[in-house]
Amino acid sequence: MDIRKFVRPNIRSLKAYHAEEIPCKVKVDANESPYSAISNQQSAISLEKTLQALNRYPDPEAKVFRRLIAKDLHVKPENILHGNGSDELIYYVITTFGGPVLYPVPAFSMYGIISQALNEKKIGIPLDDNFDLDMGKMLGAMKQHRPKLIFLSSPNNPTGNCFSTGKILEIIKRASSVRHQSLVVVDEAYQPFSGKNEFLPMMDKFNNLVVMRTLSKIGLAGLRLGFLIAGEEIINEVNKVRLPFNVNALSQAVAIMALKNKNPVRANIASVISQREALRTALDNIDGITPYPSDANFILFSVAGADRIYGRLLRKGVLVRNMSGVIRDCLRVTVGTPEENKIFLKALKDILRH
Ligand code: PMP
Repeated sequence: MDIRKFVRPNIRSLKAYHAEEIPCKVKVDANESPYSAISNQQSAISLEKTLQALNRYPDPEAKVFRRLIAKDLHVKPENILHGNGSDELIYYVITTFGGPVLYPVPAFSMYGIISQALNEKKIGIPLDDNFDLDMGKMLGAMKQHRPKLIFLSSPNNPTGNCFSTGKILEIIKRASSVRHQSLVVVDEAYQPFSGKNEFLPMMDKFNNLVVMRTLSKIGLAGLRLGFLIAGEEIINEVNKVRLPFNVNALSQAVAIMALKNKNPVRANIASVISQREALRTALDNIDGITPYPSDANFILFSVAGADRIYGRLLRKGVLVRNMSGVIRDCLRVTVGTPEENKIFLKALKDILRH
């Protein structure tokens, strides 16, 4: 039997998400933190109880995790929904509400991949020349396509900048009007590095607003834990499509540990922010490199012949993300440890010199 023909057409034409698994000395391609958010002293002792109870299913409602997050964010646990990474929550939100799904491009690729997997129409609207929202085009597309969902990642991946607050607000407002009726998901995966917290307080005013965050960028990518913050009505609907035990017991236990002692996470974020600024200045000082401003834990930069530079960096053991298929002649580098940043910068300078 021809399996390819047996597959639904929208899946047949879909390309699987590809994450590079190339062995390298310096891995600065995936916007992870270079530091773990769990200290050595914390780990072994606190996990003992969880390990002994692995014969049982995990808490399906992740009650302790949700309570701790809710307390931090001054909302109720009923306003929080846990996901196996925010990737899974994007899946759940699109499954629950359906499309069309609208988002600016370039954006995080999973909005498009998941829309297609679920056979929902996807509409990508180009950003303006400053990588900010192009309001003429965004509002025009809202009017024309009447999207059920709008995803806005701010700070945006891969550009690194936050979109203008006023523009996001305008979209949320328009989307809440009787004429438009869209849910707006503000994806704040990189919020800890911008420090901006403008949309959570808006939740009381706009019941079409969903904020999405994750532990992945602050030293816990291996746990796969993301969460939605939204009105109870939205949370209850999305919760219907959530798989019962979507976040495993070990991930819940480690996340709780990290939330009870936030010092490693805080130190982690502070270090990445200060290293980001140093890295940006250093990139700015290299002839032929133009780094873009970043509110995130990575920097997008343009360089002539980006494809070639990407390959040569890799041969020197440095793995960055090649973005030139999305933004001409651009590479994206994640902020690493001071040592990793030094190795990356030296490799880049050597390549440009020869
Ligand atoms: N949103 C954005 C904007 C991202 O860049 C990423 C990770 N690359 C995610 C969501 C997914 O994060 P998670 O690890 O929580 O699935």
